[in-house]
Amino acid sequence: MAGAANLDVTRRKRLERFIAPFRVKPGSKVVLSRDFDPAFKAGVKKKEGVALLAEGVRLLSEYQARLAAQDTWGVLVVLQALDAAGKDGTIRHVMSGVNPQGVSVHSFKVPSAEERDHDYLWRYAQRLPARGEIGIFNRSHYEEVLVVRVHPENLERQRLPPAANQGDVWKRRYREINEWEHYLTDNGFRIVKLFLNLSREEQRARFLRRIDLPDHNWKFSDADIRERARWDDYQVAFSQALSHTSTKWAPWYVIPADRKWFARVGAAAVLVHTLMQIDPRFPTVTRRQRQALREAKQALEAQAPDGAPANGHKHSRHGASADEEQRSDGSAPPRAGAKRRASEELPSAS
Ligand code: ATP
Ligand code: MG
Repeated sequence: MAGAANLDVTRRKRLERFIAPFRVKPGSKVVLSRDFDPAFKAGVKKKEGVALLAEGVRLLSEYQARLAAQDTWGVLVVLQALDAAGKDGTIRHVMSGVNPQGVSVHSFKVPSAEERDHDYLWRYAQRLPARGEIGIFNRSHYEEVLVVRVHPENLERQRLPPAANQGDVWKRRYREINEWEHYLTDNGFRIVKLFLNLSREEQRARFLRRIDLPDHNWKFSDADIRERARWDDYQVAFSQALSHTSTKWAPWYVIPADRKWFARVGAAAVLVHTLMQIDPRFPTVTRRQRQALREAKQALEAQAPDGAPANGHKHSRHGASADEEQRSDGSAPPRAGAKRRASEELPSAS
C-alpha cells in the first residue's frame, strides 16, 4: 500500500516537472516575448504528444467522475488567448472523454446591455461551476483587463461612477480579481488559468488558412484583422495581467500554442495536475447505509422468478456483494482500482 502511495507521489512530481516551465511564479514580472516561447515543446515529439493527450483525457475522465461523486470541490478553467490560438480545439480535445453532465462551457462575448448594467464581475459570477463540476470559461473575467484595456471605449460604456474611474483602474481590477479568486478557492473552487501563447507569425498562417479553406471561412472576421493590428498592445496587456494576477491560490500557466497538439497536452497536464492535488474520492458508505444495502439486496434476490438466478449480476465488476465489500472496520474499501488507474502514466518531460 505504502509502495503504491509512493508511486502516486512520484507520478504527481513528474507531472509537476512537466508543467513547471509554463507556470508564472507569483510576484514575478512577465514580459511575454522574453519569458515564454510559443514554439516550446519540451522535447516531446508529436507522436508521443498524441499518446500523452490520450492518457490525459483518460485520467481527466476518471478524476472528473470522482470529483462529481464527492461533490465537494468545483474546478473553474479560465481559457484566454488571442484569436486563432486554439481555444475551441483545446476544449474539444481535452474534454473529449469526460461525462458531459459534469462539465459546462461558457463563451464570453461583448457584454450585453443587461450585463453592462451590473458590476463587471457579475456576468462571470453567474456562470461559475457548481461543486462537483468542471466549468470552462472560453474568454473570462480577464477580458476586463485585456480587451477593455486595449480599447478604453469599453470602459466608458461601463458607466462607472467617477470614484471607480480614478487612479489606476487596472491595478484596482487586478486586486479585485485576485480577491474574488481567493474567495472562490477558499470556498472549494479551484481555478486553473491557461493562457494559450501564440506567435504573431503562426496567427498570420492560421488566418490565411481560414481564408483559403472555404469550410473555414466562417471562423474568420474583419475584427480579427483589427485586433491583430493591436498585437503589441495586447502583448503588454497580457504581460501585465499575468504579472499581477498569478497568485499562490490561482497561478497562471502560459501554454505554448504554436503547435496545436502540444497546447492540448499542456492544457490537459495542468488540469490533471490540479485534479490530482484535489484528489477527490468516491464517498464511503456508513455502517448503517451498508446494512440498508444488504437488506435491499436480500429483498431483490427473493423476488427472482422461478428458474432465474437470484443475482445474475453477481460476477460482473459491480457485482461484489455488500458483504464482500464490507471490511472489518465497517468501512468500504477505497476504490484502489480507480485510484491506481487514475495515476498510472503521466506525461513526463523526458
Ligand atoms: P472565435 O474563435 O469563434 O473567434 P471568440 O472568443 O474570438 O471566438 P468572437 O465572437 O469572435 O469570439 O469574439 C468575442 C469578442 O468579444 C472578442 O473580441 C472579445 O475581446 C470580446 N469581449 C469579450 N469580453 C468582453 C468584454 N468584457 N468587453 C468587451 N469586449 C469583450
Ligand atoms: Mg474571434
